[in-house]
Amino acid sequence: MPNIVIPPELRPGDGRFGSGPSKVRTESVGALLAAAPTYMGTSHRREGVRSVVRRARDGLHDLFGLPDGYEVLLGNGGSTSFWDAAAFGLVERRSQHLSFGEFGSKFAAVITAAPHLEDPEVIESPAGTHPLARADAAVDAYCWPHNETSTGVQTVVERPSGSEPDQLVVIDGTSGAGGLAVDPTQFDVYYFAPQKCFAGDGGIWLALCSPAAIARIERIHASDRWVPPSLDLHIALENSRLDQTYNTPALATLFLLADQVEWMLGNGGLAWASDRCDRSAEVLYGWAEASPVAGAFVDDPAARSHVTATIDFDESVDASVIAATLRANGIVDTEPYRKLGRNQLRIALFPSIDPDDVAILTRAIDFVVNALA
Ligand SMILES: *Cc1c(COP(=O)(O)O)cnc(C)c1O
Repeated sequence: MPNIVIPPELRPGDGRFGSGPSKVRTESVGALLAAAPTYMGTSHRREGVRSVVRRARDGLHDLFGLPDGYEVLLGNGGSTSFWDAAAFGLVERRSQHLSFGEFGSKFAAVITAAPHLEDPEVIESPAGTHPLARADAAVDAYCWPHNETSTGVQTVVERPSGSEPDQLVVIDGTSGAGGLAVDPTQFDVYYFAPQKCFAGDGGIWLALCSPAAIARIERIHASDRWVPPSLDLHIALENSRLDQTYNTPALATLFLLADQVEWMLGNGGLAWASDRCDRSAEVLYGWAEASPVAGAFVDDPAARSHVTATIDFDESVDASVIAATLRANGIVDTEPYRKLGRNQLRIALFPSIDPDDVAILTRAIDFVVNALA
């Protein structure tokens, strides 16, 4: 690999552009350090930790403008564990899934493998596009990601027209939540983990649940279905109402989450955070369109992700060499999703990432491309 040194003025203030775990704001880590002596290493059943969980839950309620009756649930294990929990506690009999990348297809695979559920209806479309959910009386849940992190495609969160109120809309907001606008009346469950827009660490899941979703959790709980306790959404519901988790959570993760939610609220809430992502997206896609060697991977401008952007390069440049050169210069995690197998960079545009740093990054990429030519 050529030894290319990027000059200091072309280095972003912060070099973290990964799509998860993503940039954690240094101020958050500083706040954690300051709180640590009376917070880290204390009981998660006592007020010190529970008050942080409360801040996170109340803050998310505000941030998303949740209607009356919606509740914020949390549990251990991240979004991947939530898929397992949903297979036990949300899907009653049969679900519909949109599959157009790694994450949407993984959830569909979880449901397909669950012996107590019918095979799901899976609607697919090629990487770089997304299909739409369609009303079907035979399903009790519609499931898709708000943002497909693996391909950089964002979707719209809207109840399928003709769907019934008792059919739940279950949205994977892992990479979209906190960076993309969303109308809570259009979902029943919006679940995510804090290591993306919420700039925390992994290991927990959060789920914003409508009254219909809570009724579903309660109905399944009252049925004779066996549910492993650590994946039991009813147990999670009862614990969440007490600002606790069923078993020991990672306290630093909770702290960073609460801090980031309050950072967003203090700056103007979700509208502010999503505007910031829009600005970064405008900078990045605008640069790519104007570049002789780069372009957006996603054809439809409306589907281009404003939180995880995928940029293709033509054959004259090797994107993996660009990513490796950036990495050698302290600009990390611009590699594409491994299984997509394209000549591509994937660049996170989460709210913590400064749009000015995105602009500097584009100039750094130009510099590397020129140096390689
Ligand atoms: C990152 C991601 C996941 C997986 O999250 P974990 O917390 O690692 O389980 C799931 N869905 C989407 C859309 C993601 O971006």
